Amino acid sequence: ATTSFRSLRPPVPLPPADVPLSFTEFTFSLLRSSSSLLPAHPALVDAATGETVSFPAFLSRVRALAGALRSRVGLRRGDVAFVLVPARLDVPVLYFALLSIGAVVSPASPALTPAEVSHLVSLSGASVAFAVTSTAAKLPAGLTTVVLLDSPHFRSLLTDSGQGEEERLVVRQSETAAIQYSSGTTGRVKAAALPHRSFIAMVAGFHALRAEAKITRTLLCAPMFHSMGFLFVLQGVALGATTLVVTEAVARAGIRGMVEAAEHWAVTDMTASPPVVLGMTRERCRLAALERITCGGAPLPTAAIERFRRRFPHVHLCMGYGSTEAGGISRMISQEECNHLGSAGRVTENLEVKIVCHVTGKPLPAGHQGELWVRGPSIMTGYVGDNEANATTFDSEGWLKTGDLCYIDQDGFLFVVDRLKELIKYKAYQVPPAELELVLHSLPQIVDAAVMPYPHEEAGQIPIALVVKQPGSKLTEAEVMYNVAKQVAPYKKIRKVVFVDSIPKSPSGKILRRELVNHLRLCELSR
Ligand code: AMP
Repeated sequence: ATTSFRSLRPPVPLPPADVPLSFTEFTFSLLRSSSSLLPAHPALVDAATGETVSFPAFLSRVRALAGALRSRVGLRRGDVAFVLVPARLDVPVLYFALLSIGAVVSPASPALTPAEVSHLVSLSGASVAFAVTSTAAKLPAGLTTVVLLDSPHFRSLLTDSGQGEEERLVVRQSETAAIQYSSGTTGRVKAAALPHRSFIAMVAGFHALRAEAKITRTLLCAPMFHSMGFLFVLQGVALGATTLVVTEAVARAGIRGMVEAAEHWAVTDMTASPPVVLGMTRERCRLAALERITCGGAPLPTAAIERFRRRFPHVHLCMGYGSTEAGGISRMISQEECNHLGSAGRVTENLEVKIVCHVTGKPLPAGHQGELWVRGPSIMTGYVGDNEANATTFDSEGWLKTGDLCYIDQDGFLFVVDRLKELIKYKAYQVPPAELELVLHSLPQIVDAAVMPYPHEEAGQIPIALVVKQPGSKLTEAEVMYNVAKQVAPYKKIRKVVFVDSIPKSPSGKILRRELVNHLRLCELSR
């Protein structure tokens, strides 16, 4: 008992768990709790065009769309809505509308291939999809409805004054709000179900800290389909802040585009992954209005943090750590917390954590390294339709195993030391080795293959393939990379290939991933 830690931040009171409350209703009540008037500044701004959506317009569009989705599109509570849409101002409106009617939001990267999209749709059991003209062709056949956000039809749904309002829907906090995709600690991608209560708990936490960390104008550089961007877009609205959406025109210009947008709109906050933070230090800019940048999704090396601090001494670089399955696990708020270099911040309010020795399975005291387990209202209910994965991810007391090697110091600061799980993170995007191995095994002339992370200064990690080719085969590195690239989203591409004689395996045929590192070193030395 002495070895499980509670957050050192005071617990944040949450609405009683049995009170019906959708995340949308929770947000609307937060917005109205601080003043009887809605904020006068915009809720959303397109960082490229400057188009805005005010808070009153946001609320009325959400209500109109929610009604129309039921009365005109035929959506029902519990329906899973797959969202394959690049960042646009109407994406947050869609998210809140779906949540308000108890439909499940399931966003995915528009960069995925049709085969990858099809796999996700079947995992989540989505019946409806929201897309744009450029992504619709990636959707599989068999969906009952597809709505295009860049169509006059969708615009008419946003202004619908129909009858959808008459009946108030009861959405329980325990119902699934979102299904997000993650490979977790092992294997292929899975569909993680997060209840409304998870988002209520996370946003209530931020709300309680608003005096210490007031967000006014924030540039959302994290993609809205990823767990981090998804949470921050919900949170931005709920806290009454202005969210600047990095739409395609800005995203295309890369880090330069984001920095220019930050400067142009004088943003006070940014949410970004480590490669963006790293890239910012190389840009010519002052970012005088910027007060805080929240960085997470992957580790940021201490040297990069120091470089950022030298370059932008007026900005608090706040690290945050979390996962699709657990939500936000730790973060930094104050300047004092940001000074704990190398840490991922303090454990979030309402969360219980423990460090477990991955050899003995026993909990460890402060200062010791082990696997981080977490428990609390923000974690997922489980992977949809995957009892096997759920049985290995949760223990019998409801602790979720993160697959990360961590320690917590005496002051409650969390340090992520290494990743025990298979996952590769390329620019903070998930690249599950098992998926690439499946593709490699399907290629002719390949007898065996394994994929592992390889350190990379800018991307954090890149996927590298160890390949055993058929005897006498003339297969080249470029051919392997090309044939894989055709079948996966660009961020999952294999970026290096090493041909080997064998892949180290356990007697039961499982790849010995830890041994691969040494194996690779030997192979490289013998070249
Ligand atoms: P995702 O589910 O895509 O958000 O990935 C979650 C994983 O990313 C975590 O389990 C960690 O392995 C890694 N991660 C996220 N944030 C951090 C961080 N601040 N420091 C180190 N690793 C991180």
